[in-house]
Amino acid sequence: MNPELRNLIALQDLELKSAELQKQLSDIPLQIQNLNEELARLTSAHEERVAAAKELANRRRTLEGQVDMLWAKLARLKDQLMTVKNNKEYTAMLNEIQTTEGLIREEEDKVLEMMEEMEARDRDLASAEAEMRTQSAALQEVIRTTGDSVPGLEQQLARLEEERESVAALIDSELLARYRQIAGARKGVALAEARDELCSCCHVRIRPQMYADLLRTDDIFYCDSCSRILFSREGQ
Ligand SMILES: [Zn+2]
Repeated sequence: MNPELRNLIALQDLELKSAELQKQLSDIPLQIQNLNEELARLTSAHEERVAAAKELANRRRTLEGQVDMLWAKLARLKDQLMTVKNNKEYTAMLNEIQTTEGLIREEEDKVLEMMEEMEARDRDLASAEAEMRTQSAALQEVIRTTGDSVPGLEQQLARLEEERESVAALIDSELLARYRQIAGARKGVALAEARDELCSCCHVRIRPQMYADLLRTDDIFYCDSCSRILFSREGQ
């Protein structure tokens, strides 16, 4: 294989790796931001659950206060019952006592239901909190390792850059310019392997004469279809 082509292949390899690393590095701030947002969502979802449990406890206290007031009213009515003067008043008073007793039963049933709901909620809340803590810790760990990976990636990138410069220095400047032009137009991939008489990038058939010359000579050939520089690992 033409040694210039060998160097170009090495160059493209280094440049693709370097582009990948650059992308990886530039994605990191957004990744960390997304992870932090997820962390905040976990925390606020749990805060909402805690607030809902508090709200239920408040409603229960209010209801219990109402029941206490009804019991006090009942005691008052029973006292008054002793002081009524005629049958009509007595019947009216008894009716009111019955109504109040009925109300007390209803309200106490509601309190019981609420207590059951609160117990179930407390159990859910405890397991939800444990899960939230586990998930948060895992997220924080990912955030930490993602942030910590930056210096290592930057060092790798610097090493690749040095290597890239030394390889580029070996390549004929005209060929390098052509390479750059094609790479710029083809998402960084300026070289295409010719295999089984096809361009492996655009999959278009290479003319038989060109394919034969490519295998036989050190000349530089370009794909008729995608204009990439062709190389072959067969022959020679
Ligand atoms: Zn092609």
